[in-house]
Amino acid sequence: MKILFFSDLFNYYKESLSNELKKIGIKNFELTTETNNFKNDVRFIIYSPTKKNGKKVKRDFSSYENLIAVLSLYAGIEDIVGNETLKCPLVKMIDEDGLTNSMIEWCLAHTLRLHLGIDRHILGQDGFWRHRIKPPIAKDRRVGILGLGALGKPVAVFLKKIGFKVFGWSRTQKKIDQIKCFHGSDGLKQVLSESEILILLLPLTSETRFILNDHSLELLPKNSKIINAGRGELISDNALIKKLRSGHVECATLDVFQTEPLPKTHPYWVLPNVTVTPHIAADTPVESSSNVIAHNIKNLINGELPNGIVDLNRGY
Ligand code: NAP
Repeated sequence: MKILFFSDLFNYYKESLSNELKKIGIKNFELTTETNNFKNDVRFIIYSPTKKNGKKVKRDFSSYENLIAVLSLYAGIEDIVGNETLKCPLVKMIDEDGLTNSMIEWCLAHTLRLHLGIDRHILGQDGFWRHRIKPPIAKDRRVGILGLGALGKPVAVFLKKIGFKVFGWSRTQKKIDQIKCFHGSDGLKQVLSESEILILLLPLTSETRFILNDHSLELLPKNSKIINAGRGELISDNALIKKLRSGHVECATLDVFQTEPLPKTHPYWVLPNVTVTPHIAADTPVESSSNVIAHNIKNLINGELPNGIVDLNRGY
C-alpha cells in the first residue's frame, strides 16, 4: 500500500509517521511523494496546502482509483473541501495532545492579556505608580466564542474553568456544562451583544465568510476586544478597521489574515490597537499528528470512520 504525500512536509513526517504506523502494527506500506507511478497502489493521501510561484496548487485526486481517504495535516480544510476531484472521505486533523492544547494555550494567553490589561504595565514603564487601576477578575468578564468544534469547545471549557462567563455559538445547538450555548442568527446576535472579548474559532465556509462585518460588529458592546484564531476571511478588514479607529472595538489580536503573510503595507501592522501574530496560534506538531494519522489509517483500513470526517457539502 502506498501513502502519498500531497504536501511540502514529507521530509518532516517521513520518519515519524513511519514509526507510528509500525508501532500500531501496519507494516506493508510505502510513504512517497511520487505521483506518476503505481497510482492504483495509493490508498491514502496526506494533504496540506502548497503554493507554486505564489499560487495555491490545486490537486487532482481523480486518477487514484483505490484511494480510501485523504488525511489533512491541518484542521482548516477550506483549500481542499471544494475540490471536485475529491470523491473519497476527507479527514481533518484533530490532535488533542498537540494542536488542541496549543490553541487552548494561545487563546488563554491572549484572553488574559486583554482581560487584565497586561500591556498597560509591560509597555508603560514610565515611572508612574498606577496602583488605582485594579485588575478585574474573570467572573466579571463575558467572553463569546464563535465556533464550538474540536478547538472552540475545549477553549470555551478552559476559559469557564478559570471563571469567565462564557457564551458560545455554533451551527447546531450545543449543551456544554456552565456555558451558555446559542445557534442560528438570533443566537449570533445574543452572543455578540454579550461579548466583551470575542474569540473566533469558526471554519471558513460560504456561510461564515465575513461573518464580522459593518452590521455584526455594531452589535458588540462598546470597547469590546476581538481575538481571531479562525481564518482571516471571517472578518471584513475594512469594517474592523473602521470600528478600531472609532474605538467601538477597543483592540484586536489577529493570528489569521485574508492574505498570508500579511502584506507589509497592511494597516493592521500600524494600527496601535492591533496585535498581529503570524498564524502561529496552533501548529500541528509532527509527533502527535503522526500518531493521529497512523490511528486514522488503521481505523479506515478496518472499515471504521475516524474522528474529523469532513462533510464536503457543508464545507467543514
Ligand atoms: P470544527 O471542529 O469543524 O468546528 C467548527 C465549529 O464551527 C463547529 O462548532 C460548527 O458548528 C461551527 N460552525 C461552522 N459553520 C457555522 C455556521 N455557519 N454558523 C455557526 N457555527 C458554525 O473546526 P475546528 O477544528 O474547531 O477548527 C476551527 C477553525 O480553526 C479551522 O477551520 C481553522 O480555520 C482554524 N484553525 C486555526 C489555526 C491557527 O493556528 N490559527 C489552527 C487550527 C485551526 P457545529 O458544531 O454545529 O457543526
